[in-house]
Amino acid sequence: MSGLREQDVLAALRQVIDPDKGKDIVGLGMVSGVQLRDGHVGFAIEVEAQRGPKLEPLRKAAEKAVEALSGVLSVTAVLTAQKPSAPARPPQPHAQGAGAKALVPGVRSILAVASGKGGVGKSTVAANLALGFAAHGLKVGLLDADIYGPSMPRMLGIAGRPGSRDGKVLQPMSNYGIKCMSMGFLVPEDTPMIWRGPMVMSALQQMLRDVEWGELDVMVVDLPPGTGDAQLTMAQQVPLSGAVIVSTPQDIALLDARKGLNMFRKVDVPVLGIVENMSYFRCPHCGGRTDIFSHGGARREAERLGVEFLGEVPLDILIRETSDEGRPIVVSHPDSEHAEVFRGMAARLADKLGSARRQAPRIVVE
Ligand code: ADP
Repeated sequence: MSGLREQDVLAALRQVIDPDKGKDIVGLGMVSGVQLRDGHVGFAIEVEAQRGPKLEPLRKAAEKAVEALSGVLSVTAVLTAQKPSAPARPPQPHAQGAGAKALVPGVRSILAVASGKGGVGKSTVAANLALGFAAHGLKVGLLDADIYGPSMPRMLGIAGRPGSRDGKVLQPMSNYGIKCMSMGFLVPEDTPMIWRGPMVMSALQQMLRDVEWGELDVMVVDLPPGTGDAQLTMAQQVPLSGAVIVSTPQDIALLDARKGLNMFRKVDVPVLGIVENMSYFRCPHCGGRTDIFSHGGARREAERLGVEFLGEVPLDILIRETSDEGRPIVVSHPDSEHAEVFRGMAARLADKLGSARRQAPRIVVE
């Protein structure tokens, strides 16, 4: 990812021809303010004001040309009206931090839910947390970024395909008062998801940017399981306000959770807490509790790592049945102790997201 230089970006942009002038946009002196940050690229294309409206294809072509460079994670080109006296202000590249917030206008904070490995209940927790936020009156979106194995259509009991009013931007699907977008709505369930990296990235970008999310207090992003390069790159693609790590109590999973922490540190995203799922077994017959795994491991580990322990969710057949039937426990059994736990964690996270937002200086990209 390192090693990308301004001259590489300019060389790529020399391939882009201004349709009216028949020459490349670099040669014409239209490109200004190239910015590079960890693989995120931003630049401005200066055009005469009256040509602006019809030059969207040129802007897109410029982004495409730079996206093709190796090591590039995201590209933002903006058209700016030429003003000889005042040079155009270049855009900030998309990356973590305040500038990137402009990526999804109207969305106040974005929370990633991650796990070290699959099958620990990450999606179950993501869905119930999202519904927990909604139970507190927040406007919530849920982006299923688990592109290889999307589970939100099933978990939220949503079928069908998203529509579009203008043929460009998709309407999100919704149920139980939250909006949702998932690859599962766009690709039939039996399609093998053998996606190449760049396709996954553009699918994620589209689900983020080309969906009419509207005003949201919080967008919950269900990341694919694992803490490898793919997840790291995805975490970098989304302007995250914070992350939650879901772990089971087994030691091995905890080792993975630690990797997750490191991953988010690398991309400068605060880890707001750890959730211990399948923490203990709640017997459906007698109501008794059994600590199948050495329960409490996540709490101890969180303390050791200086990360907040958000709470524990037991292994309970009711949680499995409800999430697999598309009626997550927070909406189907709102009076249960488990729903209470999820709402409590959502309240705590809403609090933490709010204060993270107050601390971050907000730079508005024009
Ligand atoms: P992941 O997203 O980590 O792969 P899922 O959320 O899809 O995991 O959960 C895997 C399976 O475990 C699902 O069938 C789900 O219903 C079940 N499950 C998750 N959490 C619990 C729990 N606390 N108690 C019982 N079953 C659970």
